[in-house]
Amino acid sequence: MLRGAVSKPTYSRRHSSSSPTQCHLCGKTYTESSNLAKHIKTVHLKLRPFKCKQCSSSFAEKNKLGKHIQSVHERARPYKCELCEATFSQASDRKRHRLVLHEGFRPYVCEHCGRAFGRRSSLAQHCQRVHKVARTADGGGGGTAAVTMAELQRMGSTMMYPLGVGSGSVAPH
Ligand SMILES: [Zn+2]
Ligand SMILES: [Zn+2]
Ligand SMILES: [Zn+2]
Ligand SMILES: [Zn+2]
Repeated sequence: MLRGAVSKPTYSRRHSSSSPTQCHLCGKTYTESSNLAKHIKTVHLKLRPFKCKQCSSSFAEKNKLGKHIQSVHERARPYKCELCEATFSQASDRKRHRLVLHEGFRPYVCEHCGRAFGRRSSLAQHCQRVHKVARTADGGGGGTAAVTMAELQRMGSTMMYPLGVGSGSVAPH
């Protein structure tokens, strides 16, 4: 009969704090004390050492800052292509993208039939095959067509004929 035994220190101690890795502020438990320390720092002390240089946001972890920059600042591309997922920071970039990728902009136009080609060599081949003309490429330098906005606008008028009709590569004549 435990008569006279008023206090039971061993029992009460076990009940008060069972885990050493328990947050004393919210009761959350962690298996590692380092995680608990991180929790207290970020959740309760609100320590955010990683600050964004482009706005006033700050983050507890470096990769969260990185995600923030990516999603908030590097996506400052308000011009979205209506035909695909591409986004652009400038309207002119989107226009060029549309012309080249979606509207089949081809800067090399056959002088005989008006067909356009993306590459000069393709045009030369076309002329040889279809028109039996060995078209010597004028103005050498590079094989690829570096299309500038000025060129696009200049050539815009020559692009009025339907492009990609039938989508076949066989020329009508
Ligand atoms: Zn906590
Ligand atoms: Zn920011
Ligand atoms: Zn697009
Ligand atoms: Zn032709």
